[in-house]
Amino acid sequence: MAKEFSEAFYHSRSWKRARCEALIRDHDLCQHCAAHGNVESAVMVHHVIELTPANINDPRIATDLSNLVSLCDTCHKIVHGWVSADKPRRRHTFDADGNLICIE
Ligand SMILES: [Zn+2]
Ligand SMILES: [Zn+2]
Repeated sequence: MAKEFSEAFYHSRSWKRARCEALIRDHDLCQHCAAHGNVESAVMVHHVIELTPANINDPRIATDLSNLVSLCDTCHKIVHGWVSADKPRRRHTFDADGNLICIE
């Protein structure tokens, strides 16, 4: 999905560091799933304000944690509108003892 203008950015040290820090902050969990009480591993870090050729050199947009959110593949596609939100998905959550359990 990488566009040409962002190709070099996504290979940069500063992005890799910001991405890593966002995943640590989010405990490697998809934040959209977490908001719905679901536990799903994050597979990528998404820019809340989308990167454009105009803002890619602005660290407040490109690498600031406040503009980054860890997401699973499904939620990322939903956020971008690449798939609809009614796709079936794994559902699990924590029980009272902190163990992962299936909801369905
Ligand atoms: Zn998710
Ligand atoms: Zn994204």
